Amino acid sequence: MKLLRQLEDYRPILAGIRRDLHAHPELAFEERRTSDIVARELSACGIEVHRGLAATGVVGTLRAGSGGRSIGLRADMDALPIQETNTFEHRSRHAGRMHACGHDGHTAMLLGAARVLAETRRFDGTVRLVFQPAEEHEGGARVMIDEGLFEKFPMDTVYGLHNWPGLPVGHFAVMAGPLMASADQFDIVVRGRGTHAAMPHLGTDAIVAGTAMVQALQTLVSRAVHPVDSAVLSVTQFHAGDAYNVIPEEAVLRGTVRAFKPEVVEAMAAGIRRVCEGVAAAHGVQVEVRYLHGYPPLVNWPEQTEIAARVLEDLVGKDRVHRQFQPTMGAEDFAFMLQNKPGCYVLMGNGQGEGQPGCMLHNPGYDFNDEALAVGGSYWVRLVEHCLPAATR
Ligand SMILES: [Zn+2]
Ligand SMILES: [Zn+2]
Repeated sequence: MKLLRQLEDYRPILAGIRRDLHAHPELAFEERRTSDIVARELSACGIEVHRGLAATGVVGTLRAGSGGRSIGLRADMDALPIQETNTFEHRSRHAGRMHACGHDGHTAMLLGAARVLAETRRFDGTVRLVFQPAEEHEGGARVMIDEGLFEKFPMDTVYGLHNWPGLPVGHFAVMAGPLMASADQFDIVVRGRGTHAAMPHLGTDAIVAGTAMVQALQTLVSRAVHPVDSAVLSVTQFHAGDAYNVIPEEAVLRGTVRAFKPEVVEAMAAGIRRVCEGVAAAHGVQVEVRYLHGYPPLVNWPEQTEIAARVLEDLVGKDRVHRQFQPTMGAEDFAFMLQNKPGCYVLMGNGQGEGQPGCMLHNPGYDFNDEALAVGGSYWVRLVEHCLPAATR
């Protein structure tokens, strides 16, 4: 591995920042303290700071030379509503809030890269350092875009990164095309006619109709989606009734749909409506289906994926860059940025094995691996130097 010496030197400082962020996790659009720290650190390096995009978002702008090219690097800052079970010194100070996805690490790594880029300036053009709020559920990336991210801070391309437990530190997964799935949600309200449980023939049973819907919906993935494509439909809630001897008027079902292709998403959305309306008609109940589009699939651009892979192969060696990787049905709002700008999102090893390094994201025992700080930071710096080459180095 050819990590940057400066980043190795800064690692204790970055680990300090990372652990401080871990101890003080903040939820979507409330990342005020985090945002203050980011702005302070960027300003200290002489980087131009803009605040307030998507409430707590921060954009740093760093220029070198006279070149007109530009690149965006994005880190997410938010935590999750999870009660941390770790007992180490830097555990969350806030009950029910936790950095269980490593966004503390992503933020610290980009700050480290910013510091080195500001010092060395071995590039020609403009670097946009994008610190984004609310990745977990609220779609902070979309809000930043809606509030003019790409107009106010023009960038030719945009790159993102996420740590990945199960992959060793120093390893990366990089793939063109779909890497993460879309995440949509649906509500199904079934309205029947309530009656005495002993006289079902006098009503129409919303529970029986609802369970038939749950069963029938499972045929969508196997029957309405191309066998080579993937999709997940999970009914995750079923609420109905509150007595032993009453058939209730109503049942409410909720759930999520994940897929990699827009056409599969549309087939699932239409299929849910069709199946529920058909089953409702068969059971003589009314049904209302609401389908809400959330994050789109994350699709890496081929050219930028090639660039990211080459930079990484040069940094950590070819054998540590995995070009074939099983995509995940998890979702990521960086997908919105890639809908607007060419770019690439890579997964970076957080470590393997039992215990902390291999502990999956969103687990109450998760922690970002500080060993990876210099790895991710070096990638950002090398990527900028590659994409905005200086005339002389
Ligand atoms: Zn997450
Ligand atoms: Zn995350």
